[in-house]
Amino acid sequence: MISIEPRKIPVAAPALVGREKEYVMDCLDTSWISSNGQYIDRFEQAFASYSGVPHAISCCNGTVAIHLALLAFDLKPGDEVIVPTLTYVASANPIVYCGATPVFVDADPSTWCLDPAQVAAKITARTKGIIAVHLYGHPADMDPILKIAAERNLFVIEDVAEAHGASYKGRMAGSMGDVATFSFFGNKIITTGEGGMVITRNAELARKMRLYKGQGMDPNRRFWFPVVGYNYRMTNIEAAIGLAQLEKIEWHLTRRKEIAAAYTQHFEGCSALSLPPHHAWAENVYWLYSIVLTDACSLPRDEVMARLAKAGIETRPFFYPMHTLPMYANGVKGQNFPVANHLAERGINLPSSAMLSQGDLDYVAGHLLQIVRS
Ligand SMILES: *Cc1c(COP(=O)(O)O)cnc(C)c1O
Repeated sequence: MISIEPRKIPVAAPALVGREKEYVMDCLDTSWISSNGQYIDRFEQAFASYSGVPHAISCCNGTVAIHLALLAFDLKPGDEVIVPTLTYVASANPIVYCGATPVFVDADPSTWCLDPAQVAAKITARTKGIIAVHLYGHPADMDPILKIAAERNLFVIEDVAEAHGASYKGRMAGSMGDVATFSFFGNKIITTGEGGMVITRNAELARKMRLYKGQGMDPNRRFWFPVVGYNYRMTNIEAAIGLAQLEKIEWHLTRRKEIAAAYTQHFEGCSALSLPPHHAWAENVYWLYSIVLTDACSLPRDEVMARLAKAGIETRPFFYPMHTLPMYANGVKGQNFPVANHLAERGINLPSSAMLSQGDLDYVAGHLLQIVRS
């Protein structure tokens, strides 16, 4: 009797294809398992050099990376920070950790990211900065965002959690804002399991982020704490995994591009699907290859996802826009976010793991095409 395993295709899965095991075993063999050890320094230095930015500071996830950046800018109650409404909740929550208020901006239909044309109207006397998120692997249109920030004296944080290695007009994602933040959660392009990083060119911002990350302890005076800090440290084991992942980043990025090219080849010409953002000035790294159902698909998005799930294909709905979540909905009365609402209602993230085979991709694409054409 032959038993056929039902196919199970995940949206994301870590690809541990480098020296991860060797480096982790080194941590165990030497007992450097806490947040001191050589892999922390090596990962930070390698990440800074990869990003072309002098300072890289590891931390324990991508959410606190954003909190550290906001602390470095002394964000206070009463302040406002502009953030796209179509993003993961962790882009907005750290603003609230500081007692400040997120101010949401609609998505640009051509990038799915923060619409630069709608930023000016949201700036008030209380606005301190802008968080630009490079969503699902595609960079936000940074030049107009940087321009308005410079004119109005606002800080710019790039949230690069979903776009490791992406670029904008030849500049690395993360090298354009005052600070950039990364997540290395298990489903991101490179991973440490849980982990994060902040990078900056500014030595003073770097000093403050290091201070807040390590309980606020004065680096020159042990057990002297000039500020209320946090324990946001990464472990040496996480950094060991991160270093091995970073050594293979070109492999990870190439795989994402191959996967995207394979899907695009299948979907081109299908009027029921609109494909991921594509601009000559941007390099999309396709963290999650994502499609938006057009009016030519008469099925509700969730029905399409349910039918894919029946075939063993895991997918994700686009993020619920922040302005629809219970804790943020009250603050947005009278504001409209039609682009984000539309994308959120019709968008699907497809399986995008670097480990997928051509057969997996053909299987996913074949099922999706069959469903949307039915
Ligand atoms: C994953 C993610 C984060 C947060 O990262 P964690 O490491 O899970 O805390 C922040 N912003 C965006 C856009 C993300 O996708």
